[in-house]
Amino acid sequence: MKPRNPWPAMQARAILSLVVLGLLAWLTGQWLLVFLLAAVAVVVWDLVNLRRLERWLRLTRKLDPPRSTGLWGEIFDGLYLMRQRSRLRDKQRRSLVRNYRDSIKAMPDATVVLTGDYRIDWFNEAARNLLGLHWVRDEGQRITNIVRHPDFVGFLSVTTRESRTLSLPAPEDPQKWLEIRLIPYAKKRFLLLARDTTALKRLETMRSDFVANVSHELRTPLTVIYGVSESLSDEVADDPDLARSVHLLREQAERMKHLVDDLLLLARLESGTEAGNGHWLDVPALLATLIEEGRVLSGERAHEFELDAKQGLFLYGNETELRSAFANLLFNAIHYTPDGGHIRVHWGSDMRGGVLEVEDTGIGIEPEHIERLTERFYRVDTGRSKSRGGTGLGLAIVKHVLMRHDAQLRIHSEPGKGSRFTCLFPARILRSSANGHVETSRI
Ligand code: ADP
Repeated sequence: MKPRNPWPAMQARAILSLVVLGLLAWLTGQWLLVFLLAAVAVVVWDLVNLRRLERWLRLTRKLDPPRSTGLWGEIFDGLYLMRQRSRLRDKQRRSLVRNYRDSIKAMPDATVVLTGDYRIDWFNEAARNLLGLHWVRDEGQRITNIVRHPDFVGFLSVTTRESRTLSLPAPEDPQKWLEIRLIPYAKKRFLLLARDTTALKRLETMRSDFVANVSHELRTPLTVIYGVSESLSDEVADDPDLARSVHLLREQAERMKHLVDDLLLLARLESGTEAGNGHWLDVPALLATLIEEGRVLSGERAHEFELDAKQGLFLYGNETELRSAFANLLFNAIHYTPDGGHIRVHWGSDMRGGVLEVEDTGIGIEPEHIERLTERFYRVDTGRSKSRGGTGLGLAIVKHVLMRHDAQLRIHSEPGKGSRFTCLFPARILRSSANGHVETSRI
C-alpha cells in the first residue's frame, strides 16, 4: 500500500492555526506573546516526538511505533510500514537460505564450503559420513588437517581456478572410494564435493582384472602356437601352399601376442596409482637407442630421423613404462609417415616443464579424431592400422604412462602435412646436469 501524501492536510491545518492564532492575538492585543507561545509549543511537541522516535528505534524491537497525530503520525506510520516490509524480506530470505541448506543437507554427496586457504566454513551430513568431518570441532580447520591423504594434499596444493577431480580412498573407510571435485566460486571460495564411487570402482577393477586374467591365460597357448608355427615353416618350405598357410598362422599368432602384451601392460598401468621403480633416466641416451630401433623398423622406407635433445636433462620415472610410451610415439610416426618422410624427436625444457616431442611429416589426423585417439582400440583407419600390425592400444598406453608421471599429452596434427605429439612433464621430476646444453644430431 502506498502511503498517502500528508501535505495538503498539513497545509490546511497550518493555515487554520495561523488564523486562530491571529484572531487570539487581535482579541488580546498580545501579538508577540501569542506567536512566541505557539512557537515554543511546536518545538516542545517536536522534541517529545523526536525522543519517542529515538527510543523506539534504539530500544524496542516491537513492530508498532509510538502513536501520534499530524505529520509525526504520518512519519511513524511510514516507519512502521518500512519495518514491516524489511522484516518480511528478512523472513523470506531466511526461509530461502534454510530451504537451500536443507536441500544440500539432504544430498547424498558430501558438500563442503571452503575458504580461500581451504579452511572449513560449512558442510552437510554426508560430509560427516564420507569425509569424517565433525561439526564445531572441525569448523575453521584446514581440511588437509582432517583428510591427510598425500594425493589429496597434493591435489589442493595446485593453485588453479579451474574445477578439478580426484579419486581417493575414503578417510574413514579405506574400502570405500570417493570422487572428489573442487569447484572455485565467488572471489576466494571453494566448493568441495565428494561422492561414493565404490561400486563404480569395483566394476572397473572387475573389468580390468578380467581382461588381465584372460590375456594372461592366452599368453602360454599363443607362445606355443607361435613357436610351433616357426618350427613348421622350416618343415614345409618346399610346399608353397602349406608354407603360405603356416606364414599366415605365424603372422596372426604374432599379432595376437602383441595384443595380449599390450593388454597386459595396460592392465598393469591401470592397477597402480603411481609409477613404481622410479629412477633418474638419461632421456637423450634412451631416445638415441629408440631412434636406432626406429631406423631398423623403417628399413627400406628410408625415413630421415632428427634427434634434438638437451644433453644432461634427466627425467625421474619408470624406465620400462617411459620407454614403451616413447617407442609407441616414435613407431607410430614411422608407420603413419610415407617413405622417405622426416621424423623429428625433441627433448628439452621450457616454462611448462620437460617437453618431449615427436613430430612427423606423415598423413596427419582429421581434427574430429584427435579427442578420441587415446581411447582403447580407437583407430582413424582400421584397415591401415591392422595391416601394419597395430593393436589400437598404443596411445592408450602412452596416456596411462604419462598420467602415472603426472604428465600430459598434447596432439597437434594437420591432415596431409603431419602430426606432433607433445608430452609435458612437471618440472619437479626434471634434473639438469651443470653444463647441460642443447645438442642437435642428425642420424
Ligand atoms: P595403432 O596401433 O592403431 O597405431 P594407436 O593407439 O597407437 O593405435 O593410435 C591410434 C590411432 O591414431 C591410429 O590408428 C592412427 O590412426 C592414429 N595415429 C597415431 N599416431 C599417428 C601419427 N603419427 N600420424 C597419423 N596418425 C596417427
